[in-house]
Amino acid sequence: MKKAVVIGSGFAGIAAASVLAKQGVSVTVLEKNDSLGGRARQYSADGFVFDMGPSWYWMPEVFESYFRLFGRNVADFYDLRELDPSYQIYFGKDDLLQIPAQPEALDAVFEKIEPGSSAKLRQFLDEAAFKYNVGMERLVYNPGQSLTEFLDRDFLKGVLKLHVFQSLHAYVRKYFRDPRLIRLMEFPVLFLGGMPKNTPALYSLMNYAALSLGTWYPMGGMYKIIEGMVSLAESLGVKFVPGAEVSEIEVRNSQAVGVRAADTRYPADCVIAGADYHHVEQKLLRPEHRMYSENYWQKRVLAPSSLIFYLGIDKKLDHLQHHNLFFDEDLDAHAQEIYETKRWPEKPLFYVCAPSKTDDSVAPQGCENLFVLIPLAPDLKDTDVLRQRYFDIVMSRLEKLTGQAVRNHIVYQRSYCVQDFKNDYHAFKGNAYGLANTLRQTANLKPSLVSKKVHNLYFAGQLTVPGPGVPPSLISGQVAANEALKRLNQI
Ligand SMILES: Cc1cc2nc3c(=O)[nH]c(=O)nc-3n(C[C@H](O)[C@H](O)[C@H](O)COP(=O)(O)OP(=O)(O)OC[C@H]3O[C@@H](n4cnc5c(N)ncnc54)[C@H](O)[C@@H]3O)c2cc1C
Repeated sequence: MKKAVVIGSGFAGIAAASVLAKQGVSVTVLEKNDSLGGRARQYSADGFVFDMGPSWYWMPEVFESYFRLFGRNVADFYDLRELDPSYQIYFGKDDLLQIPAQPEALDAVFEKIEPGSSAKLRQFLDEAAFKYNVGMERLVYNPGQSLTEFLDRDFLKGVLKLHVFQSLHAYVRKYFRDPRLIRLMEFPVLFLGGMPKNTPALYSLMNYAALSLGTWYPMGGMYKIIEGMVSLAESLGVKFVPGAEVSEIEVRNSQAVGVRAADTRYPADCVIAGADYHHVEQKLLRPEHRMYSENYWQKRVLAPSSLIFYLGIDKKLDHLQHHNLFFDEDLDAHAQEIYETKRWPEKPLFYVCAPSKTDDSVAPQGCENLFVLIPLAPDLKDTDVLRQRYFDIVMSRLEKLTGQAVRNHIVYQRSYCVQDFKNDYHAFKGNAYGLANTLRQTANLKPSLVSKKVHNLYFAGQLTVPGPGVPPSLISGQVAANEALKRLNQI
């Protein structure tokens, strides 16, 4: 029986492990932390249950396809509910936009803000649907090793409609004039990885995901996905070892022969690294086995880091939905502070998730569970004083915009920022979401999923193809495992 070691138990690592195990490979997943799930871990405190990272469940088909690979369904593992409204955006006091799940209701919202815009929305979403479908069918499940992967006739016929060489910033403005609609269309790329003006309009596919495919929630929290994936993996024979930090990938004659974690050596016929790419290359491999220099990494454009507050509130809050975006300040100015000037934002935009609006199990009765996130430039100086300053800023704005006292009702509080991402995940520069989706960091131009220096070493996760976010990481693990299987002669 062939042996594989997977480094890291995030979505990418667990997916890779399961795909390998299904083909009869004996797989061990080594995870540095004591709990599984990587950036999607969960913890409980004082009766509150907090998802530590992802909270938006988009692209439900990606999860469904994943479980179907193993003859199972999402419903076998968790109870998925569609949110309606999908989310809401505060543009100011008494200036609130709710995004309905149903298309007719969404059209009416657009029409009310900008007469004539509902027809434009339909055209915009048709084009976005085309990109999404091409992306799913032709791009994201490719290993990104050669341009020939994309060069078939059907793909080339449609390539102009993908708007790869146009910025999302310019593209959105061709359709909409109202600044609120523009912000609505630009936020998904800003939060997940780039400035709209540097992001190809290809990524309007995210708008299709956000506005047409629904916003979903697994009851019990996003961690239910991890629990489901782990139980499926274990049923296939995958062994998980938490608290096992890999310190070295052993290479002989350009082949990975095993890894070391503490005092234990794990022999392997192949290694899949689901931990942060930079850490694996720079810390776990000798210089001659690395594909990229430190200089290369310094030149990458990273997606944001974040300052997060996990809060327990001793009452129910008004005027909040499950997902709430606070865009009462200038989005472009904050984006510049993340991607260009790289400093703490003057007037931050922020996001509040209140899963207890949907799910009683994540907070004690009559209480609210809040997750507050400010996207930040990676590698910023991170001190208690700065965290407190931004806590005060967001609390004042939250109280003012929703018209209620919040601060005096906090019964549990924890913050999480750049330094925690570095300590907990070996995150390069403390990134939260991996690499930005710029044109020069798309498909073949991302760090390679297959090592060109070590023949049986593969990389998976949000710093390689297809990119940042839960669905891409899940896909990345599958693609890396399939590449490994080809070389292990298992398929
Ligand atoms: C705050 C936050 C909010 C987010 N919100 C969303 C959202 O709403 N929707 C969405 O789709 N995406 C969201 N994302 C992005 C999404 O969570 C990530 O893209 C995804 O979880 C990354 O999975 P991964 O498997 O690539 O990496 P990770 O989850 O980081 O897994 C890598 C694992 O490797 C481990 N590791 C590192 N070094 C070693 C070592 N030496 N030895 C052993 N193990 C090691 C780490 O501990 C970690 O567990 C969010 C991310 C964050 C941080």
